[in-house]
Amino acid sequence: MKVNLNRTHSGKTDTYHGSSGFYVPDPHQSQHRSPARTRRRRKGCLTVFLILVLAIGSLMWYRSQAASRGDVTPPTLNTPFSMVHPIASLRARDAEQATWSAISAQDPTAMEHELTLEDAFFRRATTQAREWQVLLLPTPQQLASPLSDTLVVTSPFGLREHPTIGQELEHHGVDLVAAAGTPVMAAARGVVVWRGNKLGYGNCVVVRHGTHLSTIYGHLSHIGVHTGQSVSKGEAIGLSGSTGFSTGPHLHFEVRRDGTPVNPLSLLAPSLPVRSSVQCYTSGGALWNQYRDTHT
Ligand SMILES: [Zn+2]
Repeated sequence: MKVNLNRTHSGKTDTYHGSSGFYVPDPHQSQHRSPARTRRRRKGCLTVFLILVLAIGSLMWYRSQAASRGDVTPPTLNTPFSMVHPIASLRARDAEQATWSAISAQDPTAMEHELTLEDAFFRRATTQAREWQVLLLPTPQQLASPLSDTLVVTSPFGLREHPTIGQELEHHGVDLVAAAGTPVMAAARGVVVWRGNKLGYGNCVVVRHGTHLSTIYGHLSHIGVHTGQSVSKGEAIGLSGSTGFSTGPHLHFEVRRDGTPVNPLSLLAPSLPVRSSVQCYTSGGALWNQYRDTHT
C-alpha cells in the first residue's frame, strides 16, 4: 500500500522528509522570528499576568479584611459594590436607585414593594441556616435588652403610619430611642447570619438564636461583627445610627420566630422597664396589648 506523504493545502505544501514522518516546518515561515525576542515577549506577558494576579489578590484580601473589621461605608443608597459579583451588584444598585427614585417621587406602591422584598429577604435570612453553629444553640425563652439604657419605644410593633412616607404599613419591630453612636448589644447568645445593607433597614445585623428565634438590628451607623461570628448575650454588635428609611437616630429592633415577625417586647424580661414616648408601662404581652388597644 502506498501513502502519499506530501499533503497539499490551499496553495502551500508541507513536506515530510524521509520515512520517519517528522514534520519539518517551512523554513521561510519562521525565519523572521528571533528566539530571544519571543522569550522577551513571553517574559513580559508573564510579568503582566503576575502583577494582575497580585493586584486582584491584594484587593480581595483588603476587602475581606475590611469586611471582618466591620467597616461599612455610610450609605444613602445601600448596596455596596461587590468585586466578586460586579455585574450583579451594579444591577442591584440600579434597582435600588430606581426604587429610591420611585419612593422619593411619592409612588405609593414603591415603598410597599420594597418592604415586601425586604420582608422576604429577612424571612429567608432567619430560616435558612448556613452556619452549623446555629443548630447547636438552644432557643432562648427570654431576650435581654439590646440597649443599656431604659427602653423607650417611639414606634410600636404592628400596623402604624410610616414616618417617612405617612402610609399605613405593618411595622415588623419596635423603634427604640438611641442617640447616634450608642452601642447596640446582642439580645441573646447567637450567631451572626447576615450583616449588610438594605434600603429600608440601612446597616443591619441579623443574629440567629437557635433554629427558631432571630433578632434584627436596623439603621446602624457602624457594624462591628462579621457573618458567621458567634456572639454572647450583651455583646456589642454595632453602633446605632440613622441609615436606611429613618427620620433620626434610633434602633429598629425586630424579632422573628421561624421567619415571622413577633412583638419583641413580649420576649423581653417582664421586670425590664419599658416606656413609650407617650406613656410608661412594663413589657409583657398583656400590658403591651393594652397599650396598642388605646392607641390604634
Ligand atoms: Zn422600625
